[in-house]
Amino acid sequence: MRVQPTWHDFDRAHVWHPYSSMIDPPTIFPVVRAEGVRLQLDDGRWLIDGMASWWSAIHGYNHPELNRAIEDQLGQMAHVMFGGLTHPKAVELCEQLVELTPEPLQHVFLCDSGSVSVEVALKMAIQYWHAKGRPEKKRMLTIRNGYHGDTFGAMSVCDPVGGMHQIYSHLLPQHLFADAPQSRSDADWCEEDISSFQTLLCEHRTEIAAVILEPIVQGAGGMRFYAPEYLRRVRELCSRHDILLIADEIATGFGRTGTLFACEHAGIAPDILCLGKALTGGYMTMAATLATTEVAHTLSSGDPGVFMHGPTFMGNPLACAVACASIDLLLQQDWQANIGRIEAKLERGLSPCRTLPAVADVRVLGAIGVVELKQAVDMRSIQPRFVEHGVWVRPFGKLVYIMPPYVMGDEDLATLTHAINRVITAEYPTK
Ligand SMILES: *Cc1c(COP(=O)(O)O)cnc(C)c1O
Repeated sequence: MRVQPTWHDFDRAHVWHPYSSMIDPPTIFPVVRAEGVRLQLDDGRWLIDGMASWWSAIHGYNHPELNRAIEDQLGQMAHVMFGGLTHPKAVELCEQLVELTPEPLQHVFLCDSGSVSVEVALKMAIQYWHAKGRPEKKRMLTIRNGYHGDTFGAMSVCDPVGGMHQIYSHLLPQHLFADAPQSRSDADWCEEDISSFQTLLCEHRTEIAAVILEPIVQGAGGMRFYAPEYLRRVRELCSRHDILLIADEIATGFGRTGTLFACEHAGIAPDILCLGKALTGGYMTMAATLATTEVAHTLSSGDPGVFMHGPTFMGNPLACAVACASIDLLLQQDWQANIGRIEAKLERGLSPCRTLPAVADVRVLGAIGVVELKQAVDMRSIQPRFVEHGVWVRPFGKLVYIMPPYVMGDEDLATLTHAINRVITAEYPTK
């Protein structure tokens, strides 16, 4: 009897997934539904989602208010071009973003994805210096272990070792990379920490357009947390030496680290800010790049007098509508107390991992929990184990990490962290 090929078989043979092989793809789990903090597989099993679909689904899945925002907008219009036209939800969203982000950021460019918002930020910085008659200021300075996306401009500022530089290095602009900060909090701040950055910045200040970094939490480049003092010093050095500061808050924005934006830990404002991921509550792809009036007006005053970017789906009304609803939903609640609750539960739930021989470090900040192992995990064996334990956790390299939806209750958080303990124990048995 011939076995009917299933849709999974087609997926396996024809559909690319993030960072995957078309010859030897790993197991891919088919999801048919998602509700609250749970994903349902096509065999009926429900998994507690520890990833919030890569930082984005902060309010959980199938949320009635977010659903309604999209349905209401759908009845008006799904999309309309943004060139020469505007619409109420785009304006409402941009008003909210200007209101919520640090005061100097007054101008909003809506983008299709996080990587595009980074491209836009880099282009804004280049165009700013071009307009000022300083076209030689076109290099970027960043810190090691960073991640800013997968498009060419974004790749060029990702970590040169862990990122995608090896294959593409001959095609990427050569930017500057300072050592990553080592101090984890202001309490263990060490003056030496800023010296590599300071040296590079001073040596190359006449050719640097901007510094780009992820404030406080370096995400996909290593899930590292660093001292707010480092960020304050970066801001100071940029201001003193006439260099723009781009903060990539695509992962950290909208409360994830315990403040609405991670820059608030250091009390600083960037010149350009990238937002994405949780912007639409995980419903639609959309990002935003905000700029100060100084940046926006300067680049608009130079040749060619306009900012040279304009995606087809810029300001998509469905995405704008659900972004407005997601921000409202966040601000209506005592989100800060809630992130504090999750932080305490993650700390309590993950701390037993500290005693496991395979574990190098456990760290928690806001609604982010990280267990760093001594060696890279074997994805092919560890991923199905998590599923067997009824949770969705997707490690990379040496990192088992979670950033759950903010609506996850204490009991589910305990199940999730307990599963991490058990899976690591099972993967690395002590002889
Ligand atoms: C995810 C991420 C990006 C890229 O966003 P995409 O929407 O995947 O293009 C850029 N910067 C940071 C810090 C991110 O976490």
